[in-house]
Amino acid sequence: MDRGVVVVTGGSRGIGAAIALLAAERGYGVVVNYAASRDAAEAVCGQITSKGGSAIAVKANVAVEADIEQLFVEADAFGPLAGLVNNAGVVDKAARVDEMDMARLTRMFSINTLGSILCAGQAVRRMSTRHGGKGGAIVNIGSAASKLGAPAMFVDYAAAKGAIDTFTIGLALEVANEGIRVNAVRPGIIETDIHASGGDPERAARLAPSLPMARTGTAEEVARAALWLLSDEASYTTGTVIHVSGGRAIAP
Ligand code: NAP
Repeated sequence: MDRGVVVVTGGSRGIGAAIALLAAERGYGVVVNYAASRDAAEAVCGQITSKGGSAIAVKANVAVEADIEQLFVEADAFGPLAGLVNNAGVVDKAARVDEMDMARLTRMFSINTLGSILCAGQAVRRMSTRHGGKGGAIVNIGSAASKLGAPAMFVDYAAAKGAIDTFTIGLALEVANEGIRVNAVRPGIIETDIHASGGDPERAARLAPSLPMARTGTAEEVARAALWLLSDEASYTTGTVIHVSGGRAIAP
């Protein structure tokens, strides 16, 4: 782990797992966070260690502040923090706004927005030169939904990801002179379990022909953008968003 430790929230499956695997290849020690899928998180760690990399799986619900604090305590014991990828995210069943209740909205914003902000706060306390740290990078995983609004599907999810876009700008400016860069990746339709968890397992395959590149993206394609933003190759890049959407929702 020559490059220090990167915490990947939701690193057990999908995009987070791809980011964890690529981060390890690039020389980071990886904290593979998960909420429920212990076996999947351990499998990601196993893949990493079998190739000579370093990784630990840490259970933490990013909607729970005490869990987040413990996640970063365990990361400290693993090695010096160099990066955070705020990837953990959920959707819900398709619904109109007039069908949504507080329980749904609280879950949606707690995991997708509040958890990312609290994790970033923990990372800043460790990486900011203001706190005696050596700097680092934060990558937030947004969504093309923040630009599309996702009407009659997940307006709540889109709004939670819209908050991530604004948070990326604000935090980037807040810590720009403290050695920390903060950027976002905005995926389009990516083949993962998230569509099934929203009650529509065929969503990605169904939408593929209508996408500008006429195909969905892969978790690895998102991971490559995230790893570039984490790296020194992106040393003068902060507060920006990289679309990894095959052209979907790129109009300003
Ligand atoms: P996924 O396959 O459903 O995986 C979600 C990951 O998040 C899992 O590792 C899961 O952990 C973790 N997670 C869920 N709730 C959590 C919680 N409360 N605390 C900690 N971890 C939690 O999803 P994905 O498609 O890879 O999505 C990853 C990110 O990309 C999300 O932020 C999503 O909004 C965003 N995104 C995805 C797409 C897409 O088309 N796939 C498009 C745009 C944006 P467990 O395994 O323990 O459940």
